[in-house]
Amino acid sequence: MTSPAIDTARLTLALNELRLPAIKVLWPRFAEQADKEGWGAARLLSALVEHELAERDRRRTERHLAQARLLPGKTLETFDFATIPMVSKAHVNAITAGDSWIGKGDNILLFGPPGVGKSHLSSAIGLALVENGYRVLFTRTTDLVQKLQQARRDLILESAIAKLDKFHLLILDDIAYVTKDQAETSVLFELISARYERRSMLITANKPFGAWDAIFPDPAMTLAAVDRLVHHATIFEMTVESYRRKAAERAKGPGRPPQKASPADMTAD
Ligand code: ADP
Ligand code: MG
Repeated sequence: MTSPAIDTARLTLALNELRLPAIKVLWPRFAEQADKEGWGAARLLSALVEHELAERDRRRTERHLAQARLLPGKTLETFDFATIPMVSKAHVNAITAGDSWIGKGDNILLFGPPGVGKSHLSSAIGLALVENGYRVLFTRTTDLVQKLQQARRDLILESAIAKLDKFHLLILDDIAYVTKDQAETSVLFELISARYERRSMLITANKPFGAWDAIFPDPAMTLAAVDRLVHHATIFEMTVESYRRKAAERAKGPGRPPQKASPADMTAD
C-alpha cells in the first residue's frame, strides 16, 4: 500500500506553524511503518499525537526543573532515611505525591542542627514534586529576602510576591540566617501572609521558634508569622547527629563513638 504523494515541505512548514515538533520529526518513520504494517489512519494519528504530548510533558518538566534551582545531585534516592528515624520514607513519598497538601497551601517545616540533611531532603522533595508536575522554587531565604527588599525599594513588592504564586511550593532554606538588617524590613512577613492558605512553603531552620525573633522586626510579627506557618503544617524535628560530621568521622576511621545530638546543637553554627 503506498500513500498518494503529499507536499512534504509544506507539511513540515505546517507542523512548525502548529508547534508540533515531535510529529514533525517522527511522522516520516511512523508513516512508513504504518504503510508497511497496514495501520489504519486513526492508529497513525493517535500514535503521533501521543508522542507529541509526551514530548511536551518532558519539555515542560525540563523547563520547570531549570526554574526550580534545586541543589544538584540531592535526590530521594541518594538520601539515607536510616540516619533520620523521625522522617519515614513512606511519609516523604506521600508528600511528594503532592495532592493532599499542595492544593490547600499547607506547609512543611524542617528543624534541626546543621548537617542533618535539611537542605538535601527539601531539595529532593522539590525534585520529586517537579517530576510529578508541580512548580517549585528552591532558594536560600536570605537571597529571596534581598530580592524582595529591592522590590520594595522599587515599589513593586506586591507584584514580586504575586509572581511567586506561579510556584506551588516555595522552599525557603535556612530561614534563621536572615540577618538583623534584613529583619528590619517586613518583606518576609508579607510573603508569608500573602501565601497563607493559598500557596505552600517548605521552610528549613536550625533554630527553634523561640529564636525566631531575630528574623522579624518585632515579637508580635514573629508570633503572627509562626502562627500562619504552623496553622496547616507538617513539622519534622530532625534532631540527630550531623551526617556531615559522621561522614568525616567515618573517613578518619574508628575513633570515639558517635555522640547523640542534644537540643544545644540546634543553635550551633
Ligand atoms: P543541613 O541542610 O541540615 O545543614 P545538608 O542537607 O546540607 O544539611 O547535608 C549535609 C551533607 O550531608 C550534604 O552533602 C547532604 O547531601 C549529606 N546528607 C545529609 N543527610 C543525609 C542523608 N540522610 N543521606 C544522605 N546524605 C545526607
Ligand atoms: Mg542546609
